[in-house]
Amino acid sequence: MRAVVYRGVNDLRVETMPVPRIGAGDLLVKVAACGVCPTDIKKIQYGTVPPPRIFGHETAGTIVRVGASVRGFKPGDRVALHHHVPCLKCHFCRHRAFAQCAQYKRTGITAGFEPAGGGYAEFVRVMNFVLPGVVKIPAKNSFAEGAMLEPVNTVLKAVRRLNLLLGDVALVAGQGPIGLMFTRLLALTGAKVIATDLLASRLRLAKKFGAEWTMAVRSPAFRRSGAAPPLNSLPHRSEAKTGQLSTLITRLTRGRGLDATVICVPSDAVALAALGQLRGGGQLLLFAHTKRGDAFALDPAAVCVDEKDLLGSYSADFTLQTEVAKLVFSRRLDVRPLLTHRFPLAQTAAAVALAAHPTPESLKIMVES
Ligand SMILES: [Zn+2]
Ligand SMILES: [Zn+2]
Repeated sequence: MRAVVYRGVNDLRVETMPVPRIGAGDLLVKVAACGVCPTDIKKIQYGTVPPPRIFGHETAGTIVRVGASVRGFKPGDRVALHHHVPCLKCHFCRHRAFAQCAQYKRTGITAGFEPAGGGYAEFVRVMNFVLPGVVKIPAKNSFAEGAMLEPVNTVLKAVRRLNLLLGDVALVAGQGPIGLMFTRLLALTGAKVIATDLLASRLRLAKKFGAEWTMAVRSPAFRRSGAAPPLNSLPHRSEAKTGQLSTLITRLTRGRGLDATVICVPSDAVALAALGQLRGGGQLLLFAHTKRGDAFALDPAAVCVDEKDLLGSYSADFTLQTEVAKLVFSRRLDVRPLLTHRFPLAQTAAAVALAAHPTPESLKIMVES
């Protein structure tokens, strides 16, 4: 089979590999779609894990072989996969910190080499301990929709960490695919969402996804240098309804401040500015700060005296799987407008490059076979 092998920093090669062998408790799945995820991009660009590996963990496809002891699946089933599944029994799982569970940290899907997801290949072996994460895709839904279950799950899990009441005002900073899903899921839970981004095209979609207000933030240097756009920078004329973001927040919350902010851009300055815009007892959720080793200058009194919560969320929550499948497959959260680009397997490197350097038109990028 063909597979895209990570051979070193920014080095992805199409290679010929043996089709993975499966054990009695495993499945073999022919991959149809695999989403390009920022966490894989980071591994490819920064070389945070040793090569060789085959990445791609937002995978959907068709079962082509079923291990002798597997029940409930048959060849021909169209399925979405989860590469991590918690044990549900350990100390971490009992605290619902599933992403910290030792079993969860094992990757259960591989196309060869050290298991790393394997979705950028023609076939993957789905190991027995992640079979509880295999979800059947209804006939009316596409494989690409199935491949979105994992990222949608990570967003719903994070939304559940917020203590929002009906009508609360939440800011979602950054309207990439993840930010847009936050906007939609927060709106569905009854929060009023302020969506910010650099790009007017994304803000238009944020409106469709249920944002009550959108505002463009300006920062030409943002993407290239990693420097942050000031959160209260001047709004884009065509999108902004009123002056600066802080003025808008003051007005919308009658001076209280935001109930919650979700940071979907890896910018410390945006996160700190957002912390300043929270009401006392409000919540700041970090979702894009996945790079280790950065310091963060925070006034601890904002946490101690103002009782602002600083939260994080990472990866998926197994117990939300059914709910996520319902949201996506019923299209209450319609992921189709997010799926802007498809690349064939042989062009995975180009897919990753586009995801790493998004254009005004690009959102979620799929590798499809
Ligand atoms: Zn992912
Ligand atoms: Zn566990």
